[in-house]
Amino acid sequence: MIRLSAIRKSFGKQEVLRGIDLTVEKGEVVAILGPSGSGKTTLLRCINYLERPAEGQIAIGEYQLDAKKATKKDIHALRLRTAMVFQNYNLFKHKTVLENVMEGLVIVRKLPKDEARRISLEVLEKVGLASKLDAYPSSLSGGQQQRVGIARALALNPEVLLFDEPTSALDPELVGEVLEVIRRIAKEGITMIVVTHEMGFARDVANHVVFMDGGVVVEEGKPEELFGSPKEERTRQFLKRYS
Ligand code: ATP
Repeated sequence: MIRLSAIRKSFGKQEVLRGIDLTVEKGEVVAILGPSGSGKTTLLRCINYLERPAEGQIAIGEYQLDAKKATKKDIHALRLRTAMVFQNYNLFKHKTVLENVMEGLVIVRKLPKDEARRISLEVLEKVGLASKLDAYPSSLSGGQQQRVGIARALALNPEVLLFDEPTSALDPELVGEVLEVIRRIAKEGITMIVVTHEMGFARDVANHVVFMDGGVVVEEGKPEELFGSPKEERTRQFLKRYS
């Protein structure tokens, strides 16, 4: 289980997260929705300390961290339990597909190369890229590059996979193939938190949907509740704009 409690974060005078509480059960897929600037990406980045929260607690499984007291060792331990899929893929341009996936396993997880290779081949097969092992990112479509990004995160076998708007940089015709891969992984029971503007995807794949606005969670619930009968006016207005 993942539990975020009273997470706060400011950039200068702007308070971007104003006390976020969120619980994610093991195996659950949580979609975070909200207007631009509502703090969704910042929240996701706080979970693995790409942004340092000013206050709050983060618990992943047995592991707990208090933002005010976090040491380097704590942050390293937290990062070992999470993996992030970025909006712009963040691949190493001068490494092949296989090398991109192996990198984290060898450098961060310190696995022997042959084991890293075995795991990488397995996850690349899963995302449908077994035929592209030696290709460089620049020769791939955006959808394929993002599937490498997903394979790289998956290879780390994290307790939670974090997706930051994984399809928003893609041409519309490539969105479907990436969502399909995420949908398939979700069925394997991996815990996921997905920041997305894809309402159809959130409705179909998520077990739990969170609507954020102005740095707070305005409303959360099962997809059928949140999409079918939103309780808050702000949620209704947002959904109207996106439907
Ligand atoms: P979008 O849907 O447009 O990606 P979001 O809900 O993910 O938006 P965030 O990216 O978390 O929103 O940004 C929330 C606010 O924090 C915005 O006003 C943004 O400009 C600001 N912000 C985010 N990162 C930084 C930063 N590194 N430095 C200063 N301000 C930042």
